[in-house]
Amino acid sequence: GESNCKFMNHRVPPHKRYQPTEYEHAANCATHAFWILPSILGGSNLYFLSDDDWETISAWIYSLGLCGLFVVSTVFHTISWKKSHLRMVEHCLHMVDRMVIYFFIAASYAPWLNLRELGPWASHMRWLVWIMASVGTVDVFFWACPEATAACLPARYKLVELLCYVVVGFFPALVVLSMPNTEGTWELMTGGVFYCLGMVFFKNDSMNLFAHFIWHLFVAFGAGTHYYAIWRYLYLPSTLQTYQGVQMKWPGIHKSFGLLEQSIMGSDLQTLSQSTVLRPVCPSSKDGCQVPSSNR
Ligand SMILES: [Zn+2]
Repeated sequence: GESNCKFMNHRVPPHKRYQPTEYEHAANCATHAFWILPSILGGSNLYFLSDDDWETISAWIYSLGLCGLFVVSTVFHTISWKKSHLRMVEHCLHMVDRMVIYFFIAASYAPWLNLRELGPWASHMRWLVWIMASVGTVDVFFWACPEATAACLPARYKLVELLCYVVVGFFPALVVLSMPNTEGTWELMTGGVFYCLGMVFFKNDSMNLFAHFIWHLFVAFGAGTHYYAIWRYLYLPSTLQTYQGVQMKWPGIHKSFGLLEQSIMGSDLQTLSQSTVLRPVCPSSKDGCQVPSSNR
């Protein structure tokens, strides 16, 4: 209604695109811009933790997907806010914003499909997930047209699009969840729930105040949960041996990540590093390092 029109514009009929207010534009930009730096740091962390070629490749794929999602989304929402008169540019970025989601989904599965033990049938999902992402990308072009967005984005397009995301997002999960090693299953499902809750707001972006902003928040929660699982179960070394090896290979850069990981992981690594890496100078004395008596 008129009362809150400063924060939210009038609702639009299903065949038209909702025009966000200044506040909503700002919120849409900020929510994803905020995650660009953390995803670069997080991606680098996985890269430095990699012990073999598959881990390195998977770290690259996943990090590019993660950073790509937040960068493209931020650029699109910034252009849509400040340069909306550039209709063609805005429209292209809108399509790229939708396409990058497919590749983000595929990239999110890559570490699990590449680094976990899979059955003979399930291993096909490694490439099938990229085929599905490509089909989704073509689908974006098929439905979009360069004229006025209002006429070209019918309500059923949004429903089809949503269904495509659900299929691409959930089909590989059947494989991942049937892996013999179930570590990380709960985190994967929790992340999936965040995405699903977010989709409600994505679908009805003109029905609630800051709906698209809320969708962005859920995407960030989902991505964060999945990053945690990938880092914790696929990259974090389970033995000190490997952990020291990583420190040896990247002494300077990895030190800060190592400290961060210790603070998050708590006792596990802390105990290990205290006992060996940060060895006390005088391990035999309970009073710490005493000066020899002759010097007193
Ligand atoms: Zn968005």
